[in-house]
Amino acid sequence: MVELTKIYNYKLKKFSILSKICYVCKEQIGPLGGKREYNDYLQERILLPEGMTKLDVTCRSCYNEAEETYKQKVQEEKIQNTKVTQGLLARTPEYKKKWNKNGIIQFKNERIAILHRAYGAQVEFIIAFDDLTAEGYELKEIDNDSCCFHVGVQLLTNL
Ligand SMILES: [Zn+2]
Repeated sequence: MVELTKIYNYKLKKFSILSKICYVCKEQIGPLGGKREYNDYLQERILLPEGMTKLDVTCRSCYNEAEETYKQKVQEEKIQNTKVTQGLLARTPEYKKKWNKNGIIQFKNERIAILHRAYGAQVEFIIAFDDLTAEGYELKEIDNDSCCFHVGVQLLTNL
């Protein structure tokens, strides 16, 4: 529900909205109440109060509260991402010991295998591919752009 208090402005020949009811706290917003509109929320990328439409407004303090909540959420998200990155870093040694950059099998665990088709090692590549296929791995992706010199990476998965 939208409640308006209008006053006629003779200069502009139209009604001006002097005050409204805050959509969130239902308090009346006076001329100095810092009315915030739908578009203010959109422009500042602040989550709109649930159900708020273009006809609704909020007071400054409800807007500030929404902004604060939003900032907190962004901060929490950042902390979460940092934790994920730290978790990945912590697990790197475990994966790194299985990583062999110049090997025909560059990496292999129980789920994925990355084969490297190096120039002059075609038969070894075929053998490795055949062995992995026998173990149940299936070709998932071929990356032909990984290097410049008749080299490709085959990603096999064992699902
Ligand atoms: Zn309010």
